[in-house]
Amino acid sequence: MGLTVASDALSATPIVRPYRGEGLFLTTWRFGLTSNEAAWQTLDSGGSLLDAIEQGIRTCELDPAERSVGLGGRPDRDGVVTLDACIMDHLGNAGSVCAMEGIATPISVARAVMEKTPHIMLAGDGARRFALEQGFASQDLLVEDSQREWQDWLKEARYRPIANIENHDTIGMLGLDADGRLAGGCSTSGMAFKMHGRVGDSPIIGAGLYVDGDVGACTATGHGEEVMRTVGAFRVVQGMSLGLSPQAACEAAVEAIAAFFRRRAKDWSDTQIGFIALNKNGDIGAYALRSGFDYAVRDQSRTELLRAESLLG
Ligand code: ASP
Repeated sequence: MGLTVASDALSATPIVRPYRGEGLFLTTWRFGLTSNEAAWQTLDSGGSLLDAIEQGIRTCELDPAERSVGLGGRPDRDGVVTLDACIMDHLGNAGSVCAMEGIATPISVARAVMEKTPHIMLAGDGARRFALEQGFASQDLLVEDSQREWQDWLKEARYRPIANIENHDTIGMLGLDADGRLAGGCSTSGMAFKMHGRVGDSPIIGAGLYVDGDVGACTATGHGEEVMRTVGAFRVVQGMSLGLSPQAACEAAVEAIAAFFRRRAKDWSDTQIGFIALNKNGDIGAYALRSGFDYAVRDQSRTELLRAESLLG
């Protein structure tokens, strides 16, 4: 059982408390409910925490009805579906793919990058070629509904992200096992109708996901440019390492994003950002820029969808 150092607020005397649960999964958005269940079943049937994270996220990637992740994800402005994903464990092992075409399960390719290459990140055609060498199947990821939406979009061809309306979204999953190990992963098709080659925060270790096995883990969803600008997930984990609770650390990161907007006097009316975080104690936190961000929690006694509090109400 892992010992932990954390506190509920900034304090000179951190609370040291072992995690006593059987496991915990924390995942962004409503699709997190199904993915948490798949992760829980994987852990329960003897899989490792990384297996559970991978299976949980794959479930979402392979569902063509989930239109912001994997198969069925919305395309870029050229009509091409390009996927981003990353995975990280408690030891600092990490793998990532970005701007990858034609492979439905980027989370599994990211894990293969982590386990089978000397690198952390593969991009574009290099990621796809590596995936094919590893035996991943190539397939057309553009489903009819996404193609229809893209054709409609072409009539005006105006790039306009919409907060909480799911023309983008990321599945970000954090997990803690009974031995106190942490891991996380995230996967997305990115912002709908983005420029070809655009990569957001989700596959960037430190922006879309960060895990420090001695402290905690965080993942982000929402407008990736803002999360990258503030190194969001690392910022949250760093906050926890300084003694903030997961909740306070998420709030501080959202406030930093708001401060960046104010400083640059930018319009943020369509911008949404959400963070979820978990520390080694099993304490959780979530916070968003504006209302509408939901996340799912699964442990031995609960399966629930919660609405995160937000800065702008
Ligand atoms: N963070 C993702 C990106 O910017 C999209 C999202 O989570 O809404 O690509």
